[in-house]
Amino acid sequence: MNEFKLLIGGRLVDGATTMEVIDPATGEVFTHCPRASAAQAEEAIAAARAAFPDWSAMSWDARKARVLQIADALDAQADTLAPLLTREQGRPVFGAEFEVHEAARILRTFAGMTLADEVLHEDEAGQAIETRAPLGVVAAIAPWNFPLVLLANKLGPGLMAGNTMILKPAPTTPLTTLRLGEICASVLPAGVVNVITDQNDLGPLLTGHPHIAKVAFTGSTATGRKVMASGADTLKRLTLELGGNDAALVLDDADPAEVAQKIFNGAMFNAGQICAAIKRVYVPDALYDAVCNALALLAEATVVGNGLDLTTQMGPVQNRMQYDKLKGYLDDAHTRGKVIAGGKALDRPGYFIAPTIVRDIPDDARLVREEQFGPVLPVLRYRDLDDAVARINDSEYGLCGSVWSGDTARACAVARRINSGTVWVNKTLDINPSYPFRGVKQSGIGTELGRDGLEEYTQAKVINLARG
Ligand code: NAD
Repeated sequence: MNEFKLLIGGRLVDGATTMEVIDPATGEVFTHCPRASAAQAEEAIAAARAAFPDWSAMSWDARKARVLQIADALDAQADTLAPLLTREQGRPVFGAEFEVHEAARILRTFAGMTLADEVLHEDEAGQAIETRAPLGVVAAIAPWNFPLVLLANKLGPGLMAGNTMILKPAPTTPLTTLRLGEICASVLPAGVVNVITDQNDLGPLLTGHPHIAKVAFTGSTATGRKVMASGADTLKRLTLELGGNDAALVLDDADPAEVAQKIFNGAMFNAGQICAAIKRVYVPDALYDAVCNALALLAEATVVGNGLDLTTQMGPVQNRMQYDKLKGYLDDAHTRGKVIAGGKALDRPGYFIAPTIVRDIPDDARLVREEQFGPVLPVLRYRDLDDAVARINDSEYGLCGSVWSGDTARACAVARRINSGTVWVNKTLDINPSYPFRGVKQSGIGTELGRDGLEEYTQAKVINLARG
């Protein structure tokens, strides 16, 4: 009997089959978990559909109490969830603990919001109000870089707005999501949340299903396009949070050592596997050598190892496919640029890539144009600020970005010219669940987080009445 279970219709059940879960720090299978069949996915959708009338009719406060119970349980179980997350995801335990508590914070943030009717017009002749209704069954599909947080982003607003849900983690990080399913089973009425797992085969069933009202998807731009195409027949509501190629733009009045440390952290946390990580750095001529050298020193000093080891600062990348992809970017770095730190996969079991800094690399290198999603950072030189802004904006992506300067007003003026959903000034990776998070261009459609993120789980409806 497997210690992990799917959650379908309020019952914790075995999968039709099982699947292997690999520890990225060893490259070895460390456990097995259930894998759902298409028939079980259909059962989950039917259960969510059956649970919708009662859940959507429940008061806001009653739903809030349950969402808060899920948040409390996550916090209470952080000591066991965090090492499990490290085993399946690879990140050091301190970063895994952060994720568990952050998932709880996100749920609490949405539980603390309200969805009141808005009076659009009122006079003696009548009244027009806008009210918001839940959509129905929402499919939440997550990638492997932050399994709990990226599902909490969807679970919080989805449940608070009165929807029922199917959660599907990435095939390589199913375990903490299955534990979240156990928590949901103990707190929610049957069918309100269902958790299924797959090997990349059940996504299309969910995204094309006539009984799924909305798909909330986080993942790559390539898969996001497929999700959008698959939802076209039923005109599905979609939130797509996709890839990014975020630039850090250093202005000529910045302190090189100070910005190098912050930029390094923003590029290398979670071994660079963050949608909003810094993925390319633009530095003016005068500071170029100083920033490159400081970044290289930080890279060389980073302790890379198994995330369960408390001295580890950076873990492995999460899966074999990503590891192989990164080795391709390392080849590109050696061919097109000058590698000044790292530059190789580590010669040991597991998916370890040395934190790598690359300088003197042209704009058309793959490492600069594409989303590397790993600890390999290109540093580009610029002479003219307008030109640097144009080069940054010349990308199919537009998720986040950052501007670094001793003069905040000047940096803010430049930040307005970066074509991204979020631009940070003198900081990075400050993703606050109260603020809307969204990508422009091919980094996504719609909004996650913030009040707008809640409203995306509702259908707005105008009630327009005549008096007298
Ligand atoms: P992915 O697109 O390969 O997979 C994401 C999820 O989609 C997985 O659960 C997968 O099983 C599922 N899936 C696969 N094929 C599908 C299909 N045809 N239909 C529906 N679902 C399908 O992404 P990944 O490699 O797991 O994650 C890395 C990517 O996610 C990066 O591009 C990263 O930038 C992006 N990301 C974006 C954000 C954001 O908020 N914008 C956050 C984190 C990660």
